[in-house]
Amino acid sequence: MNNNIKVDSFIKSGMSVDVEDAINIGMKKYFNIEIPPTRNVVDNVLRLLNLFSEKKTSATFFLLGEVADKYPTLVKKIAKDGHEIGVHGYKHTRLDNISLKTAKNEIGRAKKSIEDISGKQIFGYRAPFCSVNEKSSWIFEVLGELGFKYDSSDVNNYFCDYYENYQNSVIKKIKLSNKNFIIEIPPSTYSIFGHTLPICGGGYLRILPFCYTKALLKKAKKPVIVYTHPYEIDIATPPVFYQKRLECASIKTKLLIKISNFNRKRLFHRLNYLLENYEFTSIINLINEIN
Ligand SMILES: [Zn+2]
Repeated sequence: MNNNIKVDSFIKSGMSVDVEDAINIGMKKYFNIEIPPTRNVVDNVLRLLNLFSEKKTSATFFLLGEVADKYPTLVKKIAKDGHEIGVHGYKHTRLDNISLKTAKNEIGRAKKSIEDISGKQIFGYRAPFCSVNEKSSWIFEVLGELGFKYDSSDVNNYFCDYYENYQNSVIKKIKLSNKNFIIEIPPSTYSIFGHTLPICGGGYLRILPFCYTKALLKKAKKPVIVYTHPYEIDIATPPVFYQKRLECASIKTKLLIKISNFNRKRLFHRLNYLLENYEFTSIINLINEIN
């Protein structure tokens, strides 16, 4: 790694998309029912691809293996459009709920499948729910063994004691037992009142006032890493079977789903604003800048 490069040299920021289907995840999370990913994920990724193409931006798409296996044409389209493809697990399972062995099998299975379909080598991983913490500290060794170059999950900086800060930027190196290292480049965060909030991603980007996002973007360490999900721009009516399930759901589940639907109409415009006002690229392109 070239230690002479300064943080200021990061002119571009990183744009990333966690490719998962909200209906598939919602059915499992709220009703404990497993269904395959639905067509919604394809339609909304295609909308994002059109937006990125219009703005001449490249991004990183962290894919679930089960989405890739069901919709291989979508994977090929992302690759053909020149974006980086990474892994988001096979199913959307929290790392701190599974063993090292299960995680290795899941992530390895997704990586192989996505590489076979896309014809591209994969370097990046993002954990479902960014679930990298004390309980899943083994993940970096697993990623090293599976041939990954970087992780983009540790939003809480759980392992900062093991990091070698890279010129005070968001990018850090984690040493592995075989003396190699994994780069950690998490979604950008801001700490306030003892809490670490992703400032420019997921529900935070969609729900919080946009002036908050814009103000914190100016304070954030460079490069800024933004993340979103296909369903966050989904304004289509959910499938009938899902609506019927919701009718019988608890008040808490209904509330959580209401929150996950809030402001979806605005997110597309917010992404459009960010793409017009900042220069974005894929995460691997940022990492290659310092190698
Ligand atoms: Zn996810």
